[in-house]
Amino acid sequence: MTTKQLHQEFLAGSGICTDTRNIVENCFFIALKGANFNGNTFADEAVKKGAYRVVIDDEAFKNEKTILVKDTLTALQELAAFHRKHLKLPILSLTGSNGKTTTKELINAVLSKKYKTIATQGNLNNHIGVPLTLLSMTSETEMGIVEMGANHLHEIENLCQIAQPDYGYITNFGKAHLEGFGSLEGVVKGKSELYTHLKDHDKTVFVNGAETKQLELTKTMNRVVFNETIIQLMDASNEVKVKFKNTEIQSKLVGLYNFNNIAAAIAIGDYFNVPEEQIKTAIEGYIPQNNRSQRLEKAGHKILLDAYNANPTSMMAALENFKQAEGNRKILILGDMFEMGSEAEKEHQHIVDFLEQNPFGKAYLVGSNFNKTKTKASHIKTFESFDDFKKQFKAKDFKNCFFLIKGSRGMALERVLNLL
Ligand code: ATP
Ligand code: MG
Repeated sequence: MTTKQLHQEFLAGSGICTDTRNIVENCFFIALKGANFNGNTFADEAVKKGAYRVVIDDEAFKNEKTILVKDTLTALQELAAFHRKHLKLPILSLTGSNGKTTTKELINAVLSKKYKTIATQGNLNNHIGVPLTLLSMTSETEMGIVEMGANHLHEIENLCQIAQPDYGYITNFGKAHLEGFGSLEGVVKGKSELYTHLKDHDKTVFVNGAETKQLELTKTMNRVVFNETIIQLMDASNEVKVKFKNTEIQSKLVGLYNFNNIAAAIAIGDYFNVPEEQIKTAIEGYIPQNNRSQRLEKAGHKILLDAYNANPTSMMAALENFKQAEGNRKILILGDMFEMGSEAEKEHQHIVDFLEQNPFGKAYLVGSNFNKTKTKASHIKTFESFDDFKKQFKAKDFKNCFFLIKGSRGMALERVLNLL
């Protein structure tokens, strides 16, 4: 079956599905394979649950609704690329080391005030998520917003081939996924694949003027630069407050780094003619989710819960922010930063050195990487595992404190909340 024929079958159904646990009636089901599952084995179940067609790549599982292809993942990607070419809508693509999802959600909140938008759901930003996002766009959609994640070279290039973005934005170049990229230069190269794609296709890029490396890399491109002369930071001691033209905007996002994310959403909204008042409503109404920079209160404590993710750049951003935040009795509970490869030891020690030089509170550092660091400071304590930490952490020792909780996803530091 050609991609064109596959696309016709796809259009005749309603929506795309890859998981029988959340099938929708009449959907076009693609049976993907993962490390621990083989979607082909769900072909019958998918039909029973109402799938209109089921794309498989193992003949052994065929039934009256299946379409056999050589490789289902390739079929998904080719179908998405084909679908995208037939969508007459601008697509804005975002990548970067930190803040992609937050910025994507903010941009979507802003643009959806004026347009029918479809944006990446949650964090579905990889070689499967990007095609699924594109296939969820229809002829009714007026604008697409696609998050692209990468942990090695050529990933963004491949995702751009599929999504064919008209606009792009890179949140930042930071020390994330060093294992796959090798170094910060590797990160810059990897993320810049978005620039290369946009430039080759004569498309437009949004640039945060505070990012000098980005300014340099986009010099010869069609670009829209935004900076503090257009969007001003008014306050970041609590939730970030900004001023855009004559409008003050009070977000519900904590952390100075969120200023950049908000500024991008404002600049992009303004570029696409969303009225100032609606930009304000959109940003003010956005509440962060999934343990991303949430401000909580529990048992008399103030808590900054940022347990969604961590890497050296976002960790330092969070520490700088916490240092400046208003509050007394500051306590840090930090977890290991994953995917650091050979840089792990150095990067964790760097955080410890920073904490030695900036002793703004007690610091509990959890995980085998932090446990390997060296410190003589009495306010810093390291633990090999969360269980070790849990054994020694006594909630009754703390009264009316201000906690910053941050670590990589795998550390699941939101568990600290149960201890308080
Ligand atoms: P992922 O790689 O998991 O997709 P992401 O790039 O989508 O991550 P977010 O989920 O938006 O990023 O934010 C994750 C964390 O990154 C936040 O909780 C915060 O600690 C940090 N962060 C967010 N924005 C920035 C930024 N502009 N600069 C530095 N750190 C940031
Ligand atoms: Mg994300």
